[in-house]
Amino acid sequence: MIYLIPDTNQWIYLANSKDPSTENFQEGNHFLLLDKLSNIIQQGDIVILINDIIEAEWKRNRNTAEELIKTLKKAKESKLNEFKKMKTEYPKSSAEIDIILKSIEDKFDDDIEKNELHIARVEALLNSSEKYPISRDVKADVTDWAIGKKAPFIGNKKNSSADAAILFGALEYINSKATVTWSEAKEYPKAYFISANTTDFASPTNKNEIHPDLKPLLDKVGMKYSRSLPYALREVDQHLLDEAEMLRLEREMYEWEMKMEEEANRNTAACLICTPDEENEGLNNIHFGPGFEITYDVSNIDPNQLELPFTDLDSMVAHSVQIQAGFCEWCSAYHIKCSCGEIICTEELSHEETIDCENCGMLFQKVVIYEGNNQYNSSIVLPRKNV
Ligand SMILES: [Zn+2]
Ligand SMILES: [Zn+2]
Repeated sequence: MIYLIPDTNQWIYLANSKDPSTENFQEGNHFLLLDKLSNIIQQGDIVILINDIIEAEWKRNRNTAEELIKTLKKAKESKLNEFKKMKTEYPKSSAEIDIILKSIEDKFDDDIEKNELHIARVEALLNSSEKYPISRDVKADVTDWAIGKKAPFIGNKKNSSADAAILFGALEYINSKATVTWSEAKEYPKAYFISANTTDFASPTNKNEIHPDLKPLLDKVGMKYSRSLPYALREVDQHLLDEAEMLRLEREMYEWEMKMEEEANRNTAACLICTPDEENEGLNNIHFGPGFEITYDVSNIDPNQLELPFTDLDSMVAHSVQIQAGFCEWCSAYHIKCSCGEIICTEELSHEETIDCENCGMLFQKVVIYEGNNQYNSSIVLPRKNV
């Protein structure tokens, strides 16, 4: 029996159904990889090890995939309705419109089906995996290593703790699977820890080997390091993937990881108002969520002004802008990211106070609404002055 222990990113790659740059369903090579994995697991030679961290990660991804399916279904309905309306308007072209309707329906159904299939496949893979616990000891070990700044706690990576817990938990689990031979020597099952994060986990001189900080731990239970799932599969069975195929799969994974990292960097910024002490330096990050549209605060509009010339009212109602928002992870201050990319802290604004973007001049306003029970809800809107 051979155990494979993929880190979070390997799982995110397998579980991900969305291309981070286009937001579209991404078929890519991870279907092929899922197929190969499922096949080899069914043969009974390989067991994939998972834990709570991986399961939580998958749940997050499953929600994204389900959201994507919902969006596709809605988009399908509205597109179909559009063309159905056209049919009544242009009865003469009814036959042509029917052809378009059919092709729209097919395209959407195809994408919806692929997404549903994707969820089912990853779920099947998780269900055929073996779960190990992350014990208190393991959590304590992770903290010790982080304080000691030993690999994988090199640099400033966000996933280091999760990945260290995955590795240390797996080491403990493999250790518990040891059998004693007739000569009273301990024998461990074959196991591969898989992480493409070679900066943190691999030896600085050879990315196919584990980091010297971690080597003694892996050696103790005979665990091997592998830089990617395709690479590990080829290590396990040369016939499963030929070398060109492995390199192609690896390349796609790396490209995907780079896109993810770019995306994460683009959406992360330092807080504008707090400075944590030296020990907690760099923890005042804001992760900006997906973009959303803000418009004029309708409650601000004076009903008497509805006599405004029609064009004016039109531009006022139609005016909206895409922003992103997020909280500082250290002081919780609310920040927005202007559509021009400028970051603005709106935490210290009072009700109806405005602030302008220093870069593009766009004016934002804070509106605080009392919701009863000492609860206030504040939002950022466009003040009417922007027109
Ligand atoms: Zn802050
Ligand atoms: Zn701006």
